[in-house]
Amino acid sequence: MITIKEYVNIKKKELCEKVSLVSKKPHITIVQVNDDYASNAYIRGKLKDVEEIGAISDLIKLPVTTTEEELLKLIDKLNNDSSVDGFIVQLPLPKTINEAKVKLAINPQKDLDGFHPLSKFLPATPKGILTFLEDEQFDFEGKNALVIGRSEIVGKPMARLLLNKNMTVAIAHSKTPSNVLKDLVAMADLIVVAVGKSNFLTNDFNFKKSCFVIDVGINRDSDNKLVGDCEKDLKVAYQSPVPGGVGLLTRLALLINLLEA
Ligand code: NAD
Repeated sequence: MITIKEYVNIKKKELCEKVSLVSKKPHITIVQVNDDYASNAYIRGKLKDVEEIGAISDLIKLPVTTTEEELLKLIDKLNNDSSVDGFIVQLPLPKTINEAKVKLAINPQKDLDGFHPLSKFLPATPKGILTFLEDEQFDFEGKNALVIGRSEIVGKPMARLLLNKNMTVAIAHSKTPSNVLKDLVAMADLIVVAVGKSNFLTNDFNFKKSCFVIDVGINRDSDNKLVGDCEKDLKVAYQSPVPGGVGLLTRLALLINLLEA
């Protein structure tokens, strides 16, 4: 099977061609209200991706002392700026700013992260995973999916998308008893794990040999190396790597959302 890195490079070339054919280049604005190390790295990646496909990006970096009112004012301006096709507000926000209020202030037509409940766009991580599985001809219909984690940006939307693909979907979460989790894993044809704990899934579980495992987790091991939620080399048909897996699919999905915008 093609690696996610190869897949993403092919898709980016396709997007680049599409952008080259339109007279008005897609324009994304990224709003950052922190100086978080991880956010800086994610944003650098996003800006690089946008440049690679020939679209336009700009970063509005605000100090952590920015008030909620000031941020909402900026969002209103971006909502009404016809030169901006879509924008994202990078999380986390300072504690003094109400995240839910900010998400609801974004125009759903421009909400490239899919945060608003009426957003025209799917959140990037589940969308990226689904697009990859579809392009790789994963056989969804009538199969069992297990989504581990129930966050608003990954677990819940992922489960809904897989349900729409006619899978039988189970969601496991922090209150799922371990014996139930064991049984759900053993039945699953597809597992999407988004827990945020290294070695959460190990070969102690009894996987179907044909199982596909998509590892969303981003963790640091004791040597500060990036690892996912799964032990390496699970006894399954396919396991997405970390790094070089879902992170790349998420970045790709943001570009797809931008072109759609
Ligand atoms: P979260 O961090 O908000 O919540 C974790 C989820 O794990 C919760 O829903 C909780 O119910 C579940 N959970 C905790 N303990 C559990 C247990 N013992 N059994 C079953 N479920 C359990 O979730 P999130 O924001 O979706 O993030 C999850 C992980 O995915 C994090 O490591 C995050 O960094 C990573 N992530 C990666 C990307 C990417 O692009 N690669 C995108 C988003 C999130």
